[in-house]
Amino acid sequence: MLHNFGSINLDHIYRVPHLVRPGETLASHDYRVGLGGKGANQSLAMARAGGRVCHWGRLGRQDAWARDTLARAGVDVSRVNLVDEPSGHAIIQVDDRAENAIILFSGANHGFRRTDLNALVASTRPGDWLLTQNECLGLAELIPLADDHGLKIAFNPAPMAEEVLGLPLSRCRLLFVNHSEAAGLTGLALGAGAEALLDALAAQLPAAEVVLTLGSNGAWYQHGAQRRHQPALPVEAVDTTGAGDTFIGYLMAARQAGLGIEACLARATAAAALAVQRPGAAESIPDAEEVDRLLTDPAASPAP
Ligand code: ATP
Repeated sequence: MLHNFGSINLDHIYRVPHLVRPGETLASHDYRVGLGGKGANQSLAMARAGGRVCHWGRLGRQDAWARDTLARAGVDVSRVNLVDEPSGHAIIQVDDRAENAIILFSGANHGFRRTDLNALVASTRPGDWLLTQNECLGLAELIPLADDHGLKIAFNPAPMAEEVLGLPLSRCRLLFVNHSEAAGLTGLALGAGAEALLDALAAQLPAAEVVLTLGSNGAWYQHGAQRRHQPALPVEAVDTTGAGDTFIGYLMAARQAGLGIEACLARATAAAALAVQRPGAAESIPDAEEVDRLLTDPAASPAP
């Protein structure tokens, strides 16, 4: 079982003629609400990939439908607690020129207490994986607790923030970073090349496995002296939101199924290539059969 300590966010998306101005009341001509949050997206991706994942999260009582959506996808939601607090959410305005403005509120995602973390870790078996991102509070306590309990920790420091540098990262077995997260972790310039970033990460965290994703430039895997590049698939991207989450969920599921790193990277890359050809985040994550089809017959790859 993989346990995912992760955010659940509700995205409230309003279509407006222009972004609202100070003092103005503006009518929206469309509204929809979607499930989001890096944590929830990664759990969804892992479940759609056929993996066994238990999501650890907190959600406002009025938003139980989001928990049901995760459950329908096959995520174990027995550790998603409904609480008397607002859920983490984003208020997103999108105007007619596709410009956006976003208000983000962490809400229930920031409400984990030490006693919650103790109970969550106690519910696991040594040797299980714990996956986490940087959208829930409590990582400075959780990482040592989980490591001491014998959990293998995979960490995706997204969104990257100054506080990440103070976390006990040497206790993490596996690190998923994109280009800017790698630059933030190593202190290198944003323009630094992949090899320089990988060298710096190897020096900083010599024991960790590192997956560095680079959008349409593919991904790198590094562990000790081993380093390999996995090219991205040449597809026409319409929306890359959630590509990283899809990649991570699929890679962890493939790993759980016992595949070698080369096959794990290939599956994650195929899943992310399907995701970027569709709009949205959670709704763009493909299921395992689509990924199988793409891997067996790349020429027949559809973008529904
Ligand atoms: P996000 O924050 O948008 O979820 P990210 O920055 O964490 O994404 P990326 O490095 O952009 O992650 O993408 C992850 C993987 O998705 C890449 O390694 C690649 O396999 C795939 N991918 C992303 N963009 C494209 C693209 N334009 N074409 C093909 N594959 C892509």
